[in-house]
Amino acid sequence: MGFEKFGRVSFTAQTKAGAFVEYLEKGELRGTRCRSCGRVYFPPRADCSFCLSSDMEWFKVEGQGSLVSFTRVNYGPTGFESDVPYILALVDFNGTRVFGRLGKDVPEEQIAVGMIVKAVTSTLPGGQISYEFLPV
Ligand SMILES: [Zn+2]
Repeated sequence: MGFEKFGRVSFTAQTKAGAFVEYLEKGELRGTRCRSCGRVYFPPRADCSFCLSSDMEWFKVEGQGSLVSFTRVNYGPTGFESDVPYILALVDFNGTRVFGRLGKDVPEEQIAVGMIVKAVTSTLPGGQISYEFLPV
């Protein structure tokens, strides 16, 4: 999975996006876990691509995570051009790797691999609900 695959566009294509957004509205960031083999997916998937089971459950991404990797995005996908530039981050929450953006107000000189962050839900201009990572 590469950074280029991430985006709200691909969320809607491959996930139970409705439930994902409903959880966000409640302030919860969630992925899915396969009940059959235990694999975890973020972005959440409706089916396990490893064992092909559809017996999935939601789990909450919570607590503190550690920044594994990040990249500066200067060009947004169609419809999100006005969001750039932003920092796309890969964060490890207890072994579960979660993609997302760092908060816009985080000073760039403060961003470093190993930085401890938490996931918080946020409302974007235009009312769309999303989430971002903020330093703890
Ligand atoms: Zn599975």
